[in-house]
Amino acid sequence: MAKKIEDISDIPGVGEKIGDKLKKAGYIDLMSLAAAGTLEVSEAASIGEATADKVIKSARKALNIGFETATDVYERRKQIGKIKTGSENLDNLLGGGIETQAVTELHGAFGSGKTQVGFQLAVNVQLPVEEGGLNASCIFLDVEGTFRPSRVKQIAEGRGLDAKKILGNIYVARCYNSDHQMVLAQKIGEMIKEKNVKLIIVDSVTSAFRADFIGRGTLARRQQKLNRHLHTLQRIADVHNVAVYITNQVMARPDILFGDPTAPIGGHILGHFSTHRVYLRKSKANRRIARVIDSPNLPEAETVFFITPEGIKDPEE
Ligand code: ADP
Ligand code: MG
Repeated sequence: MAKKIEDISDIPGVGEKIGDKLKKAGYIDLMSLAAAGTLEVSEAASIGEATADKVIKSARKALNIGFETATDVYERRKQIGKIKTGSENLDNLLGGGIETQAVTELHGAFGSGKTQVGFQLAVNVQLPVEEGGLNASCIFLDVEGTFRPSRVKQIAEGRGLDAKKILGNIYVARCYNSDHQMVLAQKIGEMIKEKNVKLIIVDSVTSAFRADFIGRGTLARRQQKLNRHLHTLQRIADVHNVAVYITNQVMARPDILFGDPTAPIGGHILGHFSTHRVYLRKSKANRRIARVIDSPNLPEAETVFFITPEGIKDPEE
């Protein structure tokens, strides 16, 4: 009788070498492999397409993956956790907070508060569920070099929390270029269970790609790589039941004469991969306006919140 397939290395034809390559590319368990596409696995793990196809099919078969009933989907979605933002207004706009099994994108101009919201979430995810957290830790991919532990400390202390403990549960990696960012994202899977991670922040998701691919001729290649990266993030969110929070700068759109002449970088590609998209803009002083742009279950709406020294807050009455 054939050996029961419980791990990637149990798949017939996967020796140590292919097993290693798959693990290095972030496919650490059957589920992550089963959820992937042939081309993606072939490229990421540098194995032939036929091999990739075969191992994916084996993983799917072993996990009995195919159609599931709406009841199963419903049961899985019952596991969704929500991280509160500190502002009830913003939570309500997001349907209760930043949710797991989803990618939430905040885009806005420089200074609109995308990073601040990230800092607040990195603190809040650590709170007990009754207090709006998930009792878990956080991974922070710092692409723009703007991660500031001192600011996180200030926000934690603003909530009366033990800042040392809070900082100890945020795993930060500085990303130096888009390849580095992609590799780090692929490695995340291993850490999630080990460190009880429920939130992954990528700040920002597009800037390294924009810096690495300059000029019109490189646009297709950039979008293709960004596409793969976003797919990795989306898969992590689904497979591991974690929240993915990504930020994105908007760029000027000189072709728009009326309304807001800005557009998020990455355009439709990001739209395709982010579950919820929110547009952030600066108002007077520390006031910020957030608007849901695109979501499968949230109404298009707008709300106001504040960035204070203690973090994200609702406007004072
Ligand atoms: P983005 O990431 O969208 O470029 P940030 O999240 O860095 O923008 O937001 C920067 C803004 O956050 C600042 O302009 C300021 O208004 C606010 N901010 C940052 N630190 C503090 C603080 N300690 N107290 C109050 N507001 C702050
Ligand atoms: Mg920022």
